[in-house]
Amino acid sequence: MTDTFKKYLMADGSARIQAVHLESAWQTGLAHQPYPECIRNLLGELGAAAILLTTNIKFQGSLVLQLQGDGPVSLIVVECTSDLSFRATVNLRDPDLVPADGTLQSLLNANGSGRFTVLLDPGKSTQMAPYQGIVPLEGDTVAQVLEAYMRNSEQLDTRLWLAADGQRVAGVLLQHLPGTGGVAVDDGGRPAGAIQGSDAEARAESWNRITQLASTLGGQEMLDTDIDTLMRRLFWQETLLELETRPVRWHCPCSRARVGNMLRMLGREEIDSLLQEREKVSVSCNFCGKPYEFDAVDCAGLFVENLDESGSRTLH
Ligand SMILES: [Zn+2]
Repeated sequence: MTDTFKKYLMADGSARIQAVHLESAWQTGLAHQPYPECIRNLLGELGAAAILLTTNIKFQGSLVLQLQGDGPVSLIVVECTSDLSFRATVNLRDPDLVPADGTLQSLLNANGSGRFTVLLDPGKSTQMAPYQGIVPLEGDTVAQVLEAYMRNSEQLDTRLWLAADGQRVAGVLLQHLPGTGGVAVDDGGRPAGAIQGSDAEARAESWNRITQLASTLGGQEMLDTDIDTLMRRLFWQETLLELETRPVRWHCPCSRARVGNMLRMLGREEIDSLLQEREKVSVSCNFCGKPYEFDAVDCAGLFVENLDESGSRTLH
């Protein structure tokens, strides 16, 4: 099963383990976004990271991760909402300057002023204030940038393994849980059977053991293997409690109607002058790249009443 997120807990409560594996959702996202391979893979890795982090936030809203660059890439951005819909895009400063073997540092931090930004938008349904954190781009991989950020912002030790190619995206997150945590406590908050006798030292040992196991992960292996098989292969000697399985989907809220509204706001004169230059007005969503075309008749329809929901003309 792909396009899936899964969450597990070590039975001794020492760590949370999360994994994501995408295939068709990722291919949908790339459909109108033909980036050079090195950039596409960074985008996929950031996408996996955003999904893994979103599931740890108790809110109805969206998480945005941004890599802002001073090199050939000016921005890599992913937005993931609490229902695990995500979208992702890249802004290139100059496509001709992208080297085939570009790395995170050479593409985004050529002059040392690249930034990693986390934006948390809790939406309108809560009193929670939006949060923004900005840090320098430290690390050679997306996983390292995220780990550095988590080390500074969260008190929880977090490790990430991320991989992406043109077909699939995969990510694994391990998080060391403090003190008594997870389900391994009874109703009174006292340690239950499985955790009895467990102390900080034992928990630290568990943590070291599973991070070492996960460190054997190769990118290709992550992409080729579904989550269940990967977890069995890595942690077959551990007792894991499976907590959650959730579907993940690609979603961009752009639509023909929205583009139509935007064209209407430009005004009739502007649209007419565009149409004098070419047969159709072509607009691509600047987030997912999906193209929308309005011919002369469509454009005329934008400026008459009784538009249908698609933003196209209606015949009466
Ligand atoms: Zn879009």
